[in-house]
Amino acid sequence: MSDHYVKVKVQLEQMKSSGEGVEKDEADIIEDEVLVASSPASVSPIPASGTPAAQRETPKTSVTCRNQSKSRNKLGKDEKNTCTKQDSVPALQGTIVASNANSGKPVNRKDNEQQMLQIKGTGKMLQGKTETNGNTVPIHLPEDIKVGPHNKEDANKVAKRRKPVTVDTFKAKTSLEALKLSIRQLKWKEFPVGRRSACDIYWHGVSFHDNDNIISGQVNKFPGMIEMLRKINLTRAVRTMQELFPEEYNFYPRSWILPEEYQLFSTQISLAKDSDLSQKPTFIIKPDGGSQGDGIYLIRDPGDLRVIAGSHTKQSVVQEYIHKPLLIDKLKFDIRLYVLVKSLEPLEIYIAKEGLSRFCTEPYQEPSQKNLSHVFMHLTNYSLNVQSGNFVHSDSLSSGSKRTFSSVLYRLASKGVDIKKVWSDIISLVIKTIIALVPELKVYYQADIPPGKPGPTCFQILGFDILLMKNLKPVLLEVNANPSMRIEHEQEVSPGVFEYVPSPVDEEVKVGVIRDTLRLMDPAQKKSLTSYPEHQQEEMLGSPVRGTGEEGRVLPSMCLKQVFPKYTKQFSYLRTVERITALFLRFLGVKGNMRLGPTGFRTFIRNCKLSNSHFSMATVDILYIDITRRWASMLPDSREAGMGLQAFVEAFFYLAQRRFKSLPLREQVVSLLEVCEAQLENQGRGDSGGALPEDSTASTRRSVSCGRTQPGRTQHPHHMSTSTPGQALSAPQLCSPATPRRASSQDYRLHQRLRPTHKGNVEN
Ligand code: ADP
Repeated sequence: MSDHYVKVKVQLEQMKSSGEGVEKDEADIIEDEVLVASSPASVSPIPASGTPAAQRETPKTSVTCRNQSKSRNKLGKDEKNTCTKQDSVPALQGTIVASNANSGKPVNRKDNEQQMLQIKGTGKMLQGKTETNGNTVPIHLPEDIKVGPHNKEDANKVAKRRKPVTVDTFKAKTSLEALKLSIRQLKWKEFPVGRRSACDIYWHGVSFHDNDNIISGQVNKFPGMIEMLRKINLTRAVRTMQELFPEEYNFYPRSWILPEEYQLFSTQISLAKDSDLSQKPTFIIKPDGGSQGDGIYLIRDPGDLRVIAGSHTKQSVVQEYIHKPLLIDKLKFDIRLYVLVKSLEPLEIYIAKEGLSRFCTEPYQEPSQKNLSHVFMHLTNYSLNVQSGNFVHSDSLSSGSKRTFSSVLYRLASKGVDIKKVWSDIISLVIKTIIALVPELKVYYQADIPPGKPGPTCFQILGFDILLMKNLKPVLLEVNANPSMRIEHEQEVSPGVFEYVPSPVDEEVKVGVIRDTLRLMDPAQKKSLTSYPEHQQEEMLGSPVRGTGEEGRVLPSMCLKQVFPKYTKQFSYLRTVERITALFLRFLGVKGNMRLGPTGFRTFIRNCKLSNSHFSMATVDILYIDITRRWASMLPDSREAGMGLQAFVEAFFYLAQRRFKSLPLREQVVSLLEVCEAQLENQGRGDSGGALPEDSTASTRRSVSCGRTQPGRTQHPHHMSTSTPGQALSAPQLCSPATPRRASSQDYRLHQRLRPTHKGNVEN
């Protein structure tokens, strides 16, 4: 055994033995099970036929070569139907066409069964016999579960008495196959064409609105998620956080929103180039609402931006291109991680311990003018690379052009990489990104499901696309609202004849994610589990206590790991914008509205006692009009009048800067929040303090709902309380309400009220 191997083994052992249940520092967040997955001890050879996918019948859908790309597009049509169809990009597609000439070759299938490694351990090591996605693992029943119906015998009785959970799969679209397998494994009841009476769970393929009029149960989509995860809105949400917490949010590449920030982009790049002539940055242009690499291209000069309709570029994001990615076998790859947002209020986030790594099919070279159009070198999208003659479909989970993430981690660990740190950084990136999205999601949520109105609760599986830089720092590329849950792929079985065949790696990862999402959302389980600590919940979900499992088989341990609220301590100080959102929702008034009217804004100022002799109500009105107009002018398609959340956040930042000069922005904002919250609390105790909002009843209801949690009240260790409530009421005269709150950001503060058009980053 080489010294190096010993070192890796010791490192892995240390990671495994790191304590559970102990609150860890952010830098120490460890996903214990993934590390187990990476341990050489948990790697066992399995025959290809052992994979669940291989055991299933191969669907016999054939298409001809001529129809290949058509059928590929058609596959995703349902979910892509709302995506903006991109203009073709000849420069990039040239490469695709050239490589397609190779597609007549038999598919390169790695047939190395002897060496085939299955990384076990997407679940805990338990005692007894069970199947983890086709593999036998021991089961360990939690000894200390002895109370109530949770001891084994009682729970088995309860499970026998229980009616099966019902799932409406009518709108599941391309997730259907993985969903059916999951439901079968759980012995739940599927309603493939819907049901007259209510189901427990509704599985939608695209959006919350796939089925309207659901008034109970749970839906697997949040209202507004598609809109929030469009490239422009994601960029805006992260940017707001970057303004407050620049260090914490430096995992997102520098981005500009087009067309409105073209000048800013152009000027900043020219200045940077002038100050350092050796700088030759590359930029990647991504159309808003695009997916699967559609319409993406690289440029080295702002002048190379493609224009449409004469002078306008399409709505898109231009982003700094990460030119030094980590390579494996000289290939660029990215990571797809599945993340479950189980609830917004309280915020609950789970990360799948296993993900996918998607490889490019042409050796990577740093961008140069010559290779900018080489998609198979620069873009890791499966949908693009599968068209390359070099794409390797493999039955193994640890080789080929699409592999499990744990196999990549294992490979990195064997090269001496500190995978514990990599995983910890990834978890941190995921939590921070969701914290950035939550404020606006709450506004959408309350507009669609106002408190007091009957409606379902929501959860959603998101697909995080992450790139590892050469220095191992994870970078967020994008988040998919509808990640592909397909578990089969198209394969050319003989020249010109294509079939859909099971994809073992997709099945290994995706069925586990869907099944365990369902287990977490099980209405009965949800109620009974809450009294147990999280580590016990996981064991219970994997134990025969559930009595579910196909043909009496015990279900595998959970592949989803809770990361929030588990790591609340380390991250709650970032939830500042959520506190601003609570104020916004409180004064929003009318049900279903997402924009604050002028009266609501005035009431906010008055109730929080923010006006005084230097800051009159007339000035407040000017501030409102100025900010609202500017946002409206930037959003020609906005249908609702009034001040959206992002405009309100801008106004709030502005007020905070005026009042608490010379502090860093984050402290100014927190100080103003403390002022407002204290005032409102006083009023709650009887000091009326100002006029009621436009619709006081609704506002009260909302404030109750928003007051359930007080995001961000836990103070960050570095955060200093900078003022006492009510202090500094003598704000200086407002010179011009138009004064931008930050010169660098003034032009891009625009809010989009996007009706659910379902355009967005949907895959398949
Ligand atoms: P899409 O939704 O169309 O897949 P992505 O943002 O995921 O758009 O980008 C497509 C691919 O382009 C990614 O999978 C990745 O390989 C590459 N990519 C995206 N952004 C960057 C970036 N900033 N630096 C380097 N590569 C990137």
